[in-house]
Amino acid sequence: MADIAIKNVIKRYGDTQVIHGVSIDINDGELIVIVGPSGCGKSTLLRMVAGLEAISGGEISIAGRVVNRLEPKDRDIAMVFQNYALYPHMSVFDNMAYGLKIAGRPKEEIRERVEKAAKLLELSALLERRPRQLSGGQRQRVAMGRAIVRNPSVFLFDEPLSNLDAKLRVQMRLEIRQLQRSLATTSLYVTHDQVEAMTLADRLVVMNQGVAEQIDTPINIYDRP
Ligand code: ADP
Ligand code: ADP
Repeated sequence: MADIAIKNVIKRYGDTQVIHGVSIDINDGELIVIVGPSGCGKSTLLRMVAGLEAISGGEISIAGRVVNRLEPKDRDIAMVFQNYALYPHMSVFDNMAYGLKIAGRPKEEIRERVEKAAKLLELSALLERRPRQLSGGQRQRVAMGRAIVRNPSVFLFDEPLSNLDAKLRVQMRLEIRQLQRSLATTSLYVTHDQVEAMTLADRLVVMNQGVAEQIDTPINIYDRP
């Protein structure tokens, strides 16, 4: 179980308040997409859930545990970024294995987990390559793989498809949807793309100027007259 409770969360940068009391309850296994224009606070909110950004007020709990003061490494979370953040000098295998190595997992377990994730993501033939020898879609899959191998109870996605061309974006969208369904990992996904949001989301959070204006299913938000 990894339900997430975001309660009345506030964020200030100096004197400027950029998140104005956002509350979202995310069910275990649910995929919530936060959609809204650039600058509305999506990334900031995601980074607060990830523990990469301090919160100025309110509370965030995962599986009933308040995580406000937990270090990122103590949160059972994996994040996929827009720029993939792969290590250019490392092989695909090592990129995917990195977090597990740091965590001190046994070598055999690391190998097993990486190979399993690679199979799932159709990367098995590419494990020796460097990131620069991969296509955009393959790089994106490696970034996903690095998240999956850690077997986290929460996935966070920050505009993971925005560097891909339109065709690949559609394909990867479907792949992420299937992956999220099969792993049933509680997920929070940030995008400015409404179509992407509608296709992926169990429920959508429409954000505007630091406020969650609507939280509902895609059908209820977009198809109502
Ligand atoms: P989005 O992800 O929706 O594009 P962000 O969460 O990145 O929006 O930004 C929300 C607001 O907070 C913006 O007005 C942005 O300029 C501001 N902001 C983001 N990061 C910082 C920072 N480190 N210092 C000051 N202001 C910031
Ligand atoms: P070491 O040389 O540190 O004893 P290994 O012999 O297990 O480690 O692996 C050497 C390197 O080969 C690893 O750092 C990793 O980059 C790569 N590697 C290990 N297993 C695989 C695999 N199944 N597929 C591709 N590369 C692998």
